Amino acid sequence: THFGFETVAEELKASRVRTVFSSVAASYDTMNDLMSLGIHRLWKDHFVRSLNPGIRPTSYSQSAAGQTILDIAGGTGDIALRLLDHATTINRDNGTSVIISDINPEMLAEGRKRFATSPYYASTATSPNRRVSFLEANAEDLSAIESNSIDLYTVAFGIRNFTHKEVALKEAFRVLKPGGVFACLEFTPRLSNPIMNGIYKRWSFGAIPLIGQVVAADRESYQYLVESIERFPSQPEFASMIEEAGFIVPGKERGDGGELQGGWEDLSLGIAAIHKGVKP
Ligand code: SAM
Repeated sequence: THFGFETVAEELKASRVRTVFSSVAASYDTMNDLMSLGIHRLWKDHFVRSLNPGIRPTSYSQSAAGQTILDIAGGTGDIALRLLDHATTINRDNGTSVIISDINPEMLAEGRKRFATSPYYASTATSPNRRVSFLEANAEDLSAIESNSIDLYTVAFGIRNFTHKEVALKEAFRVLKPGGVFACLEFTPRLSNPIMNGIYKRWSFGAIPLIGQVVAADRESYQYLVESIERFPSQPEFASMIEEAGFIVPGKERGDGGELQGGWEDLSLGIAAIHKGVKP
């Protein structure tokens, strides 16, 4: 662009995102509960259930190798823990492993702490834990991960912070195996019902920065988080972006996507949505 203004703006955005998450890391889980009135837990549970991670042992193989899952923008490990719990308790799969990846070392440090105190997945000196690993990386450059190596790519409440979402989608496509699934849980910029949208926007623009100020003494970071939701593409726009990266979007064309009619699933009146794509 002229005079490189766009580049400067993008660099500012990336460094802003870093500062925001470094400053919210320690209070992140508590703040999520307060801001969403605990509902983010239900969305995350539903997201993970809908993915049914892990492989059921068949009568031929009692010890399936398990899936390799990449949880991008995995932060404090909220999604990864649910993925492992589901694989282990529902599918009786002890082989599935999750790589928790995040650009922010402070958020990853919170994730490490959580797994260190989680007795089932905790690693010990004699039994190093292979089921969870941590990778500091930008979602737009996953060069540490081999092409066609991942069964399931998850990203929850992360992608709206990425500077170049298309580049991150291309990287997701590259690292997934053919048949692998891209799954995203994210806020939507607006609710389809205008009255409910008005009420919701009053809550998010009014209460969330205020809660940030009172509980975490950080109004600005929470103001940024609310504004980043406004700027995220609408559900049909995002479904098209996933398709443009090369994925098949279940439900988008043929209407056979089950819960994903139209190419996505709205949660809680469309405050959040689940998008999926399958690598052909
Ligand atoms: N997935 C977690 C959850 O659902 O609780 C954490 C979500 S948190 C709102 C967003 C995360 O995205 C932060 O940990 C932040 O560091 C990470 N992030 C932001 N930009 C990123 C990027 N370009 N690549 C990887 N992670 C990024």
